[in-house]
Amino acid sequence: MKKTREDDLQNEAAAAAAAAAEAVYEAAAEEKTHSSSFLTCGCCGRYFETWVGYVDQDQDEGYGICKSCQGWIEDRAEADWVALEELVREGLEERNREKWDKMDADTRRGFASVMVNRGVIRFEFTRD
Ligand SMILES: [Zn+2]
Repeated sequence: MKKTREDDLQNEAAAAAAAAAEAVYEAAAEEKTHSSSFLTCGCCGRYFETWVGYVDQDQDEGYGICKSCQGWIEDRAEADWVALEELVREGLEERNREKWDKMDADTRRGFASVMVNRGVIRFEFTRD
């Protein structure tokens, strides 16, 4: 295909638009890390610096959850899920228990959540 002056202008405009978009993205990324680089952990109270990829933890202004506490919370949540899965499994008849064991964890947890929501299982928070 023959290259025209119009093609050149279009390519130039596309390149300029891409460069402008990149500049806006970089400025936003920079501003984000600068404006919230130091927070107080709402869990342990330590002052910490946010890291690349830090996700806002829905805390009050100036607060967040540090990496160590995020890991701890995830571990506890995982342990609770495993305990809930085991609780449901124990209550199943042999035939259904076999089906339960063949399900993937997401499906099992989905069923367990429905049971909790419907009041079939009562879930109590015993930690502070
Ligand atoms: Zn913490």
